[in-house]
Amino acid sequence: LEPDFSFMIRTRTPGGVVTPAQWLKLDAIATTWAERGLRVTTRQAFQFHGVIKRDLKKTMQAINAALIDTLAACGDVNRNIAVAANPYLSQVHTTVQAQAEALSKHLLPNSRAYYEIWLDEEKVAGSGEEEEPIYGALYLPRKFKIGFAVPPSNDIDVFAQDLGYIAVIEDGRLAGYNVSVGGGMGATHGDPETYPRVANVIGFITPEQVIAVGEAVVTTQRDWGNRAVRKRARLKYTIDDRGLDAFKAEVERRAGLTFAPARAFAFDHNTDTFGWSQSDDSMGDDGLWHLNLRIIAGRIWDRDGLRHLSGLREIARVLDVEHDRAVGAAPEFRLTANQNLLIANLDAAQRDIVDALVREYGLDTHVAASPVRKAALACVALPTCGLAMAEAERYLPAFVDRIDALLTKHGLDGADMHIRLSGCPNGCSRPYLGEIALVGKAPGRYNLMIGADHRGQRLNTLYRENIDEAAILDTLDPLFRRYAGEREPGERFGDFLVRGGIVSIDSTGSRTLPL
Ligand code: SF4
Repeated sequence: LEPDFSFMIRTRTPGGVVTPAQWLKLDAIATTWAERGLRVTTRQAFQFHGVIKRDLKKTMQAINAALIDTLAACGDVNRNIAVAANPYLSQVHTTVQAQAEALSKHLLPNSRAYYEIWLDEEKVAGSGEEEEPIYGALYLPRKFKIGFAVPPSNDIDVFAQDLGYIAVIEDGRLAGYNVSVGGGMGATHGDPETYPRVANVIGFITPEQVIAVGEAVVTTQRDWGNRAVRKRARLKYTIDDRGLDAFKAEVERRAGLTFAPARAFAFDHNTDTFGWSQSDDSMGDDGLWHLNLRIIAGRIWDRDGLRHLSGLREIARVLDVEHDRAVGAAPEFRLTANQNLLIANLDAAQRDIVDALVREYGLDTHVAASPVRKAALACVALPTCGLAMAEAERYLPAFVDRIDALLTKHGLDGADMHIRLSGCPNGCSRPYLGEIALVGKAPGRYNLMIGADHRGQRLNTLYRENIDEAAILDTLDPLFRRYAGEREPGERFGDFLVRGGIVSIDSTGSRTLPL
């Protein structure tokens, strides 16, 4: 007998888009083989936790039967590509999503080993018949993250990505992308050689140049990245070590193009916009409806009085029908990079049905939730992640309760602040872009980081190190009092902290972008 080893499985779902039929299959997998329902990650993937070793192959085969794979969802390769879950412009979203899927496919490892191991295909890997044109024999020095943003929403935190594509929309159509490079969240406690970094915008490209630029950035990192010190192996360090101009020139050389000057863009938030929205048919879009639901820390389950898994199953059943539309795409589920869920592309009749089911199953938690609660993010951390030093997902609801109470004490009810919790400095919940963030140090103890903006363009900074909940609240209490009394109209908490000199942010380095 061997112990009941259990595993986490993560999907590759570029942009987090699945059909209602796929949702039903993922639901069945979660209820049959996983322990804790469906988990939405901050990269728009699904995670299944607690899959027992003897069920691993069956689970992988069931995922494959849903026409989804887990290829390159982990490892030193391009990971799941994040895409804005844009609810405003269906046609632009469709184009951007298609480009992201094509790039994801182009950057897949060219190995049949996955199929041999999990799907019982004939053995090819290791026989000398495979070529790996992008990753070569050694793959990348570290994981690699790509995101596509569609302004004005920066819901994917494009400046946290190794490589970002920022859609430029002119006359309602996609003109191209501004390209950003060198973002990254991970750091190591006590090691100044490691740090979070926001990406630099290096120029504009047309839609046809997306794949060439993606391949050039990835292969430059493959060849230039640090393979001696793994903690320094992310693209952000390559760029800081070699210089942004040299990196950009090498990418241009490999891609066979010259970047045009970056075009104007503006983000106004890096969270989700909850509730119903409609694609703008007066702008030539399809007029379909989209519903952004809040999922608490990305966890979808029927527990603790919740019936979210059941409710979404019913919605998927209703939407899993044949479509015969002259205009507009079929209904789809889109995971957001803020761990929430968008039910997209509904006509008016479907909207009414979904609305009723959302209320029946209590999926409308966004209606009564405070702005702080709606925007809060947490990584999985304990008990699932082996790297966790402190709680995150399980602590989030209680911590937000304390923050909401503190805001009420200072007459700040309804204040919108972005709070992010991470169980360790790897930063899976992108904590360094939170106006208030806790980064785990030890059980019950965190580094308190404050001062990021609300658009994902400025990193926060360490304010207090290794403190417990009581000390965190004692530290925030006078800051909230000052914010209540001294803020300017409409001023966000993070901006107030910087303007007031309470935290000092290096505006010349890689900690911030011009706002
Ligand atoms: Fe990621 Fe660290 Fe959280 Fe684990 S504990 S999910 S590695 S941030």
